[in-house]
Amino acid sequence: MSTKLAIDGGSPVRATVLPYGQQQIDDADIAAVVDVLKSDWLTTGPEVDRFETALASVGGVPHAVVVSSGTAGLHAAMHALEVGPGDEVIVPTMTFAASANCAVYQGATPVFADVDPNTLLLDVASAELNITPRTKAIVAVDFAGQPCDYDALRSLSAQRGLSLVADACHAIGGSYRGAPVGSLADLSIFSFHPVKHVTSGEGGAITTEDPALARRMRTFRNHGITTDHRQRTENGEFFYEMTELGWNYRITDIQCALGRSQLSKLGEFVARRQQIAHVYDGAFASLSGVAPLGVAENVSHAYHLYVVQLDLDQLSTDRAGIYRALRAENIGVNVHYVPVHLHPFYRQHYETDPGQCPVAEAAYERILSLPMFPGMTDADTQDVIDAVTKVITSYHD
Ligand SMILES: *Cc1c(COP(=O)(O)O)cnc(C)c1O
Repeated sequence: MSTKLAIDGGSPVRATVLPYGQQQIDDADIAAVVDVLKSDWLTTGPEVDRFETALASVGGVPHAVVVSSGTAGLHAAMHALEVGPGDEVIVPTMTFAASANCAVYQGATPVFADVDPNTLLLDVASAELNITPRTKAIVAVDFAGQPCDYDALRSLSAQRGLSLVADACHAIGGSYRGAPVGSLADLSIFSFHPVKHVTSGEGGAITTEDPALARRMRTFRNHGITTDHRQRTENGEFFYEMTELGWNYRITDIQCALGRSQLSKLGEFVARRQQIAHVYDGAFASLSGVAPLGVAENVSHAYHLYVVQLDLDQLSTDRAGIYRALRAENIGVNVHYVPVHLHPFYRQHYETDPGQCPVAEAAYERILSLPMFPGMTDADTQDVIDAVTKVITSYHD
């Protein structure tokens, strides 16, 4: 292996770019979609029910409601919990903006909590400090695919009379103390964007034990109308009523068929992600200058992302320098996330400030997401290890 960095004119570790994430579609997925295209129902049809049944089973709960995206799922959750103007929702800042935006859609105020420096998961003590008489819910984010500390979060929520929502968009297929992700909060949200574990192109779902919340979300995804087109067709009725304001957050049968076909491979996909993580862990344990995030003993981590933190004290460049050098080696690294409270929208409209979540802000300067997807080969994994080793060694003091 050439030791001269590609960014300095050396030859790259790989000839082609390895992306940080990628969907894996097979012939069975394609056949499932084609079957729907030849059927009577392109949307609001039987594939919706089938996908919901399969998801409820994965989540270990009686109800799953499928919607057009993970973001729509978060919005439906806020609506079902009657989050509205004057309410506050606690959200960890180390997440995708949608985890907080859902509160804004309902006219509520997101309040940003800090994260644990080792796992980057919601710091339960910080969540507790941010509770006020206006707090209605906590959105816990299973960052990178590791379930949060749900025992602590459930007892805090119960004590303070709050709803607990899991943004589990990174964590389908994971578990906490043996209980599946999907069963750990009042409402748990999944995303089926192509970079997530299983894809429907675009899509999302909410799992819950509560039949009333499930019913509210089904109405919400269909304009606030209490019956859908297929129910009316089957009953030979035309009459319908809109009982509240909803949205068109429906997902098509085409997407549900793809999602259900993908879901049947969830176990394989997660196992492969865990295998890649294990190889990364072994390689980086002895490389000074980078450290993988901490993983709790009592979880099964679903590894949507594999995040490392750079030890900048040992390096002669910053995260941007390492990022550019790895990109030049054709390794598609990424950064998850810009802390949400630092986005101009929140600074302008919710008066958030730098300094408000010091742990997440410091972590943001040091984090890198390495390629992680089930279709990666062992050779791809080794390329990532070689490139990280080459770049970190070269910038090590
Ligand atoms: C992907 C993601 C979402 C949003 O999902 P979409 O399906 O893209 O709308 C929300 N929260 C987190 C943490 C995510 O990673």
